[in-house]
Amino acid sequence: MSNERKRREALVYHAKPKPGKIKVVPTKKYTTQRDLALAYSPGVAEPCLEIAKDPDNAYRYTTKGNLVAVISNGTAVLGLGDIGPEASKPVMEGKGLLFKIFADIDVFDIEVDTKDVEKFIETVKNIAPTFGGINLEDIKAPEAFEIERRLKQELDIPVMHDDQHGTAIISAAALLNAVEIAGKKLEEVKIVVSGAGAAAVSCTRLYKSFGAKAENIVMLDSKGVIRADRDNLTEEKQEFATARKIDTLEEAMQGADVFVGLSIADIVTPAMLKSMSANPIVFAMANPNPEIDYKLAVDTREDLIMATGRSDYPNQVNNVLGFPFIFRGALDVRATKINEEMKQAAVIALANLAKKPVPEQVNIAYGETRLNFGPDYIIPKPFDPRLITEVPPAVAKAAMDSGVAKEPIQDWERYEVELYE
Ligand code: NAP
Ligand code: MG
Repeated sequence: MSNERKRREALVYHAKPKPGKIKVVPTKKYTTQRDLALAYSPGVAEPCLEIAKDPDNAYRYTTKGNLVAVISNGTAVLGLGDIGPEASKPVMEGKGLLFKIFADIDVFDIEVDTKDVEKFIETVKNIAPTFGGINLEDIKAPEAFEIERRLKQELDIPVMHDDQHGTAIISAAALLNAVEIAGKKLEEVKIVVSGAGAAAVSCTRLYKSFGAKAENIVMLDSKGVIRADRDNLTEEKQEFATARKIDTLEEAMQGADVFVGLSIADIVTPAMLKSMSANPIVFAMANPNPEIDYKLAVDTREDLIMATGRSDYPNQVNNVLGFPFIFRGALDVRATKINEEMKQAAVIALANLAKKPVPEQVNIAYGETRLNFGPDYIIPKPFDPRLITEVPPAVAKAAMDSGVAKEPIQDWERYEVELYE
């Protein structure tokens, strides 16, 4: 399809039959006068009074417990950059659609007109009573780090900046499996991370929590290798600065086992790929075009294990594998936060699911004959119906074990049946 046709198709999809992608639908009866007297005045006063007595009753009588805010200020939208709050709305509505279809979570998308960190935090805090959880989205680094840190501290509902942690969780699951397939150990692999933005920093932190060693990691930004002796490094960059006296990606790639790209297109050359160790792992996740073209990479090395952010090649690192199921698990035990234990549980659940035999309907959905754990299948596919029964229980259990679940699950069998329905 030509680019012009794709453009028009996307615009028509969004405009017709009604503008936008989501709507609000009543969940109670509303046909008689009696129904209306319950839905609104006078009946509505009763739940109001119960909630006034104890705010936790909002979970009982309102949508709060299944309602997530997808909030952005439009400063780092997809690969489009700072396009402003209105222009970010199609993305936020899209996220609402995905939350709904994959995990039956309702979303209000909220676009906030401020770049000021304090004002943004204030806005989110002021509207938080409406919601059971907050998904921060497409907010520029480094502001995103501070915004998320503060909101997690100051709110008692789950808050997650998906651009940081979603990518980290999915790619960590892929990395655990890729390292295993390559016959290596995460504690020993040499890792090159290209990019030092929101995604790269949180990915690298999560890999370290699974055993990757700081001394084996080299991170690069637009100026080259982040060396400890470089001036004016942000706090996040200092955290990953290397003591090695190298400056370029070319030098960093020599003998490396893993390349993680969260930067820009086409910066890895075939020569760099050839200089990597045996069974190299390349996660070239810049969107829409990876750090090295998929076909070029697989033509350059047969022993390669490759993932990208794209749906047209194997091993797509797609956040939709994470956020619907992580929030599902968090909401279902009324977790007060999404902590490290819950993220790690999601990683392990995703990594393990990729090792299980793939149901026929997944093969059919992706036009494959036999998806099988191996170099071309290191993470589950988004339309795998087992995600909803595998990931939320793991996240919910981790919330309970780490002491942040206000409503622990008592009957796991029943919970899994509910998830399935
Ligand atoms: P970001 O916060 O803007 O960070 C971009 C980083 O890339 C910055 O640290 C920048 O360096 C660095 N950079 C720019 N040119 C570079 C170069 N030539 N070599 C090395 N580093 C370079 O953006 P982000 O949200 O982290 O996203 C980064 C990329 O990852 C985007 O392409 C995004 O689409 C992609 N991504 C993919 C997925 C996925 O596949 N699921 C998820 C999230 C993000 P400075 O710090 O010097 O400016
Ligand atoms: Mg995003």
